[in-house]
Amino acid sequence: MLVVSGPSGCGKSTICKRLVLDARVEFSVSATTRAPRAGEVDGREYHFLDKARFRAEIEHGAFIEWAEVHGNLYGTPRAPMEAALAAGRVFLLEIDVQGGKQLKALGLPGIYLFIAPPDMHSLRTRLERRGTDTPEVIERRMAKAGEEMRALDQYDHVVVNHELERAVAEVRRLAGLSEPQGSAR
Ligand code: ADP
Ligand code: 5GP
Repeated sequence: MLVVSGPSGCGKSTICKRLVLDARVEFSVSATTRAPRAGEVDGREYHFLDKARFRAEIEHGAFIEWAEVHGNLYGTPRAPMEAALAAGRVFLLEIDVQGGKQLKALGLPGIYLFIAPPDMHSLRTRLERRGTDTPEVIERRMAKAGEEMRALDQYDHVVVNHELERAVAEVRRLAGLSEPQGSAR
């Protein structure tokens, strides 16, 4: 299990998109109550559920962890994770800091990575350039980021996403994915 957390805009999705190019890695498709963004496909980036359905899934114990993030609910479905781990695959979770803490508290073995922005100014610039959030939402994400940065020492490793290629290489190295696929170790 490879858990990738960090404040919104630090580059988690960008890094995870690179990691899944490796056939050994399976991305955990979370459920969420937020609306799809342009280009997002149900079942690929997220399973988009309404609040009632999400609550019902919580009742059924369908999530290994769930959290409210920026006013929406997000959860990691249990079944795909169990199947991937049983099959010996690297199960990649891109989740918020609350979710990472919950998994750690459950004692789930894995590599817990915190992706940090080079500094708060760059984080704001990245959120603005991404162009997916209104100024109000960006303010909320920035306020939350300060709080989230304080959880950094609860993770196994911190990777500063300054230059993308270096950050991806560092994550691959920490996750044991630097060796080419299929090579003998
Ligand atoms: P998150 O998933 O953590 O919210 P994203 O992966 O969406 O963050 O990245 C936020 C924005 O920053 C995106 O527009 C992305 O292209 C950009 N970005 C990611 N990594 C870097 C980097 N190393 N340098 C500059 N911009 C980056
Ligand atoms: P976004 O709406 O930008 O896709 O995601 C917002 C935040 O929710 C990000 O920090 C993302 O990592 C987090 N997130 C996505 N899926 C999950 C999940 O299943 N559980 C938790 N706890 N957080 C999640």
